[in-house]
Amino acid sequence: MSNSDFYAVFGQPIHHSKSPQIHQLFAQDTQQIMDYQAQEVSAGLFKKSVTDFFEKGGKGLNCTVPLKELAFEFATELSPRAQCAKAVNTLILQKNGCVLGDNTDGCGLVTDLTQNHAIALKQKRILILGAGGASRGIIQPIMQQVPQKLVIANRTIEKSIALALEFKSLGKIEGCGFKDLKGQSFDLILNATSASLSGQLPPLPNNLIAENGVCYDLSYGSEPTIFVRWGIEQNAHKSLDGLGMLVEQAAEAFYLWRGVRPNTHAIINVLKQKSPEQI
Ligand code: NDP
Repeated sequence: MSNSDFYAVFGQPIHHSKSPQIHQLFAQDTQQIMDYQAQEVSAGLFKKSVTDFFEKGGKGLNCTVPLKELAFEFATELSPRAQCAKAVNTLILQKNGCVLGDNTDGCGLVTDLTQNHAIALKQKRILILGAGGASRGIIQPIMQQVPQKLVIANRTIEKSIALALEFKSLGKIEGCGFKDLKGQSFDLILNATSASLSGQLPPLPNNLIAENGVCYDLSYGSEPTIFVRWGIEQNAHKSLDGLGMLVEQAAEAFYLWRGVRPNTHAIINVLKQKSPEQI
């Protein structure tokens, strides 16, 4: 390990992670001297690995699947958005030795939509597909944009209904199954299922996308995901993948650690141009 400040992402699996490349590009862009590594850590070894990391002088950590709930439990302090999401993707060592847990996923999504793609959420009818950890992390930041309504549809209906109930104080949120979507239309459809990762598409009715409606898959890949392709086939105004969200959530974590914001536009373009083997 070098003498520079060091950071890491923990997860399992982790070999596919783009975070080291993204943070290296951020560091170059902002002239920060720091080191960032990916480390395979199982849920069983999480507590020991994080404790060791901070004892050795680590300044901050990202946590990804399946460790976000464990990171939430580990943190000695929590940001309001982490408290709301009940999941943590960023740990920040504080000057007093406490470890602050935050969740930058939802902020990353909203920044990508509103800043990078000029998609306003105010008064929009928004549909989230999926009721797992990613959905949980994006609900509050979406509701802060004051949509007309938010519907959460999931394969296991009980989970979407429970999630809608849990967040009902934030505004009009409904939980349902995919079949219940027939006859409805939405200005923005967010695919927060992991179905794209296995080349699967949730069973969605036709005419689900309103005129000028947008599709956004939180998943991403070297080729357009199956959901992005579905959006194009269904004549969505735009059909986007989650690479921008990935970079924006990382930029927010970088800002929390280093106090400086990288130029994400340039870095998203660099990552889009690289082949999958390079990133
Ligand atoms: P979870 O495992 O917590 O949840 C998975 C969700 O997908 C569940 O709602 C599950 O439904 C649903 N699902 C899985 N397979 C299918 C299928 N074949 N058909 C329909 N629904 C399905 O995963 P996460 O919420 O943590 O992650 C979801 C996705 O979001 C992942 O692809 C992840 O890569 C992406 N992500 C992207 C980020 C980014 O920065 N771009 C950040 C965070 C996540 P059920 O409840 O019925 O099992």
